[in-house]
Amino acid sequence: MTDNCMKHFERISEYLDGELDPATCIEIERHMAECPQCENCVESLKRTVALCRKMGGEKLAPDEATRIREKLRECLFREHKAG
Ligand SMILES: [Zn+2]
Repeated sequence: MTDNCMKHFERISEYLDGELDPATCIEIERHMAECPQCENCVESLKRTVALCRKMGGEKLAPDEATRIREKLRECLFREHKAG
């Protein structure tokens, strides 16, 4: 996992929580374009959460958000080790 990925990790989890503004979403999408590992993780988690399109909608339940964050971290470490 690179520093760049670490920097994005917090944001990615907020992104998955649906808490980010569209500009930050774009930034993350840009990182994912350069980083297949992050992209893989986000893509797999995306299936369980609605993303940017949910902006202005309801947030995830706190326990749901925590669970997703855990999954994301596991996935990122696994992916980056494998790569
Ligand atoms: Zn990355």
